[in-house]
Amino acid sequence: MPTMLPSLVIDAVGIAVAFLLMFGLWRMSSPVTAPNGIKVAGVGMAAAVIASFLYLFDVSAAAKPHLPINIGLALVALAIGGGLSWWGGRKVAMTAMPQMVALYNGMGGGAAGAIAAMELFGSRAHGITQLGVTLLGALIGAVSLSGSLIAWAKLQGVLKKPLRIKGQQIINAVVMLFTLVAGLYIIFIEQSGSVPILPMQGLIWLFFGCAMLFGILMTLPIGGADMPVVISIYNAFTGLAVGLEGFVLQTPALMIAGMLVGAAGILLTLLMAKAMNRSVSNVLFTNFGDVAKQKQGAIKGSLKPTAAGDAGIAMRYASSVIVVPGYGLAAAQGQQKLYEFVKLLIAAGVKVRFAVHPVAGRMPGQMDVLLAEAGVPYDLIFQLEDINEDFSNTDIVLVIGANDVVNPSARTDKTSPIFGMPILNADKAKQVYVVKRGEGKGYAGIVNPLFYADNCNMVYGDAQAVMAMMIEAVRGLGLSAAA
Ligand code: NDP
Repeated sequence: MPTMLPSLVIDAVGIAVAFLLMFGLWRMSSPVTAPNGIKVAGVGMAAAVIASFLYLFDVSAAAKPHLPINIGLALVALAIGGGLSWWGGRKVAMTAMPQMVALYNGMGGGAAGAIAAMELFGSRAHGITQLGVTLLGALIGAVSLSGSLIAWAKLQGVLKKPLRIKGQQIINAVVMLFTLVAGLYIIFIEQSGSVPILPMQGLIWLFFGCAMLFGILMTLPIGGADMPVVISIYNAFTGLAVGLEGFVLQTPALMIAGMLVGAAGILLTLLMAKAMNRSVSNVLFTNFGDVAKQKQGAIKGSLKPTAAGDAGIAMRYASSVIVVPGYGLAAAQGQQKLYEFVKLLIAAGVKVRFAVHPVAGRMPGQMDVLLAEAGVPYDLIFQLEDINEDFSNTDIVLVIGANDVVNPSARTDKTSPIFGMPILNADKAKQVYVVKRGEGKGYAGIVNPLFYADNCNMVYGDAQAVMAMMIEAVRGLGLSAAA
């Protein structure tokens, strides 16, 4: 193949890949088109990986003897990476999705850091701009790698408690200062040609070590429950790092893909923070759960348990029901049983709709995916802004495994840590049934006055088991599910 052809083909594929990723991302904006969007983006990624093998036709004479071993290593890496992610993707439980995203995100940051390391150790980055961009990409990629790994460990339960020490912010600032000084010193040595106080290789190791330490220190004090927002921030970091390294390598596809991921990560972070009515700095620098525990006001009323079967029969005779799913439904994997029950109600002529809060569950879109997995048609699923006005005209609301997203203190209690967070108006319905195992709190760690309200009854039990009891009770009335 003539020398120019591979790079032309790579560039052409790169542009096509960028379009496929953008198109895929656009399709992911609706649950109806999202599965197709994921496939389109996947085809884009596969094309990018295959096209990168074209570089083999354009290597220098010095590199040619290393080709067989390098191709072998690349194929082994592809087999291990592809095999593990194929297996992991099929096995992962819906509730374990955040830690899987954390792991993949960390790998993205690590990959960007590795590209930068190759440029730095191979002395291939020259000049203030190129060296500066390489180091910046290395810094962000390394922070994203180590921070994401800590986020994974917390979500996986490997690290059980947030590690907070006195003067943490100062220590973090000192480590970051050290990293920046090491980076600036590397640029200074490269520019001035002076003899460094440490061998250059040692300086680069120091720079990476400090950056990774910063990622660890920054993530350790943050509570496990805040991790999804933190992962989203690191996702933005990874994208930025990849984009910067794309600039260093002068690879347009990498630049575009990196910027897409970076922009998507930033938007997602801001949307999550907005839906929780918290600032990003509040997530990063305050101990949310602890603050929440200190601020519980007095609650009026009492908890009124009721049998699952009675609640199920009451819904059968209602004319309208809104179902509010939450984290507990995903934890119980109760979505199939829930939809089976809903089909029974619909067959009996009840108008049933699902109301999804933007931060219900532990990941944005988790409830949409969960309901889609159970086969719930999209036209039964409504987002907060489209259904919130309808709660007051609804006979019964079934809150299943949800808590914070229906907590009315977000509207009324200025001392509540979730004050100002938009919530689903479940409390405004004529009757509310709440399915949960006991008196466990939600993510925010606060009491929910809705559970004590006159129009609310508690149905205690695991979400899946409770739904099975409701199905049995309604079937006992002699009705059958819609086909
Ligand atoms: P919550 O975390 O507020 O409440 C979940 C409830 O489910 C708990 O009170 C628990 O009570 C119950 N539960 C747990 N397991 C089961 C089970 N097996 N069967 C039945 N019930 C169960 O969930 P929400 O979805 O209402 O709210 C999500 C929260 O997470 C919000 O505060 C949000 O800000 C936060 N968050 C969301 C993110 C997102 O992107 N979606 C990201 C980060 C945070 P019990 O123990 O008594 O059963």
